[in-house]
Amino acid sequence: MANLIDIRGVSHAYGTPEGRLPVLSNLDISVPEGEFCAVVGPSGCGKSTLTRLIAGLMKPDIGEVWLHGELVKGPRRTVGMAFQNPVLLEWRTILQNVMLPLEIVSPTMPRAKKEARALELLELVGLAGFENKRPSELSGGMRQRASLCRAIVHKPDVLIMDEPFGALDAFTREDLWLTMHDLREKEPFTCVLITHDLRESVFLGDQVIVLSGRPATTQYVLDVHFPGPRVIDGLYKPECSE
Ligand code: ADP
Ligand code: MG
Repeated sequence: MANLIDIRGVSHAYGTPEGRLPVLSNLDISVPEGEFCAVVGPSGCGKSTLTRLIAGLMKPDIGEVWLHGELVKGPRRTVGMAFQNPVLLEWRTILQNVMLPLEIVSPTMPRAKKEARALELLELVGLAGFENKRPSELSGGMRQRASLCRAIVHKPDVLIMDEPFGALDAFTREDLWLTMHDLREKEPFTCVLITHDLRESVFLGDQVIVLSGRPATTQYVLDVHFPGPRVIDGLYKPECSE
């Protein structure tokens, strides 16, 4: 299977008033198409920097990022992103928020088709019936579900999630993990999930990349098979192959 993402020998440093701040050192990451790559590491180790490099929002000082066999040289529409605090537009309904990427990427798609696509996803994540609500009428977990739908509605090549569930309480967070599994089964997509929660990385990842050090580099890679940890009587049991 071809790799959808190839990060080769990437190092990056920020220029700061105090001098050069090396953040990432010689990273190699390969994510095959359809796989979930969880990147876990302590706060400040460079995880968000890595997402910016993959999304083409920044260029690495050294090394290369390849997406779908193409060298990343700038931002691309084929990358979907989800963050800890979803930015949903309050003057639009949930349905209109989810349809937004389609309006940008597929302007000629008939409106009914865009709506059907958005509704299909909202139903998948358990938000059927909430499509006409405004973002402020939803709980934090529901807003995160809606933002997930928006991030994948246009079928991006890759979904990058930067600590997407960090602001949620533990119960809501675990509910969303299960939703992610459901989503993946019904609609496979390639994903880089950034988290500082080790349990989350093992629950959701096919591979778990552990970053640490200063500058951060890959400490080890865990191979966890999807669907990996299984829900057993409401409890889940992580099963790592290594
Ligand atoms: P993480 O997401 O793992 O918490 P970040 O990638 O956000 O880490 O940041 C890694 C390091 O780089 C931190 O020390 C942070 O302060 C620094 N940093 C992040 N962005 C910038 C920037 N634009 N300019 C200078 N330093 C930055
Ligand atoms: Mg971060």
